[in-house]
Amino acid sequence: MVLKEDSCIFCKILNNKLPHHKVWEDDHFLAFLDINPINPGHTLVIPKKHIDYIFDLQDKRYTEIFEAIKKIAEPVRKVMNSKRIGVAIEGFAVPHIHIHLVPINKENELDPHRATKAKEEDLVKIAEKIRRMF
Ligand code: AMP
Ligand code: ZN
Repeated sequence: MVLKEDSCIFCKILNNKLPHHKVWEDDHFLAFLDINPINPGHTLVIPKKHIDYIFDLQDKRYTEIFEAIKKIAEPVRKVMNSKRIGVAIEGFAVPHIHIHLVPINKENELDPHRATKAKEEDLVKIAEKIRRMF
């Protein structure tokens, strides 16, 4: 049997087989920094169960993941001092549900083409600041 972990990068993160910069978690969801942020503080929120497509989530989990992003958005916004948190769900690159939370300050910033690789030391600092908000 092929385990999801063998093929899914976010399952590897969940099983601590890949380093990541956690900002928050509960029993069902994990939030960590995107390594190619659209803007600094770009956070991904994923369910701990491997499901590809957001609209395949059962109703309870679907509601809970949106409650979770509401919890995480304001701490991220405060730390990054941004006007808003933009929300995006695409999922073509990684087939494990992830909601993008992106600090934004003006129109059209929520554009994946703007993503650039973050410096490791910046990710460490930002994740620590966000974690302290909870
Ligand atoms: P999407 O196009 O919605 O599937 O986006 C996938 C996102 O996952 C992109 O923003 C990537 O930068 C991000 N990503 C891929 N691998 C990792 C990783 N190991 N740690 C954090 N973010 C990742
Ligand atoms: Zn997965």
